This record gives sequence, structure tokens and C-alpha cells, in this order.
Amino acid sequence: TPLIGVLALQGDVREHLTALAQASAEARPVRRPEELAAVDGLVIPGGESTTMSKLAHLFGMMQPLRERVAAGMPVYGSCAGLIMLAEKILDPRSGQETVGGIDMIVRRNAFGRQNESFEASVDLAGVAGGPVEGVFIRAPWVESVGAQVEVLAEYGGHIVAVRQGNAMATSFHPELTGDHRVHGLFADMVRAAR
Ligand code: GLN
Repeated sequence: TPLIGVLALQGDVREHLTALAQASAEARPVRRPEELAAVDGLVIPGGESTTMSKLAHLFGMMQPLRERVAAGMPVYGSCAGLIMLAEKILDPRSGQETVGGIDMIVRRNAFGRQNESFEASVDLAGVAGGPVEGVFIRAPWVESVGAQVEVLAEYGGHIVAVRQGNAMATSFHPELTGDHRVHGLFADMVRAAR
């Protein structure tokens, strides 16, 4: 069984730990560099990407995260986690930095004020058995991607799920739905990389 960490600086850590356990992965929270070193893959949860970025610096995690992602550790980011995996943010708060790993430009809070939170069915490439129910909460979208990036899903004409090598990200939160297929897909990616 691969050991999958959930970055536990801020955000909906517990929901991801539960979803991973239900997808038959062994999961544990990760806050420190030595905890990161012990896992085979990492989930970066939803939450608030500016705060997460600041806490990653405070905990001495930004550089270790960059190094492991660059070295090919499987990583899955949901919502704020997607923002953390972007090479570039269109509208960053001052001082907001990312881990990178996916050659994409993201727009934060992109779906707009009138529609800050909603659920939608999303056809996600690589997930069998019909669309997944996506929960979008002040969600980003992907404005553009580089040639190496595979688009896994679009919603309303905007890119909402991507993969580049061992890095995958979704604008939405599959961990809030009780459907663990996305976490199952990620667990398969971690097994394949080991
Ligand atoms: N709007 C948040 C951000 O910019 C992301 C929201 C979420 O993770 N649900 O970080």
C-alpha cells in the first residue's frame, strides 16, 4: 500500500484523509520536511492559497515541496491545491508563491461572485463510470496550459482539471462528495510511480 500524505498546514485536510482511506490508500497528515520525505505521494487540499503559501514558508516546507514535486513525486491539488501547483497565478496576492509543477496560468476566484459556490457534473478523463460531482467553492480556473499539460476536464468552457506527468489538479473538491474515484485514480498514480 502506498503511503500518501495530505499537506496539513491549512484547509480541508480531514476530508482528504477520509477520501484516501476509502480509496484504500494509507494516508497521513504532513506538516514537516521529514514527514514529506516519508510519503510516496502528496495531496494539497483546498483552503486558501495565500495563507497556505505563507504557512509553507513558515514551516520550512516551500523548498522541500518544490524539490519533491520537481523530482516527480505524485501530487494532487484540489482548488487552493491547484493554485499551489501552478507555475503562474494571474492575480496573486503580494508575496504569494507557488510550488509549481504544472505549466499553467490560473485565475483565482474565477467563477465569480454570483456563483461563488456550486456543484456541477464534470466528465473527468481517466475516471470511469460516469461524471464526477464537482463542488466548486470560490474556485479557480485554468486560464492557459503549456504543451506538456493534458486537460482532463472543462466546465462552462473553462479548464477545471489537468495533469502533467505525476502532477494532477482539479478546480473542484471531489473530497466533499463521498465519491472516491478521483482519490482512487491518484492512489493508482502513486502505486504506478513506486
Ligand atoms: N479561493 C481560494 C484561493 O484562492 C480557493 C478556494 C478553495 O480552495 N475552495 O485560495
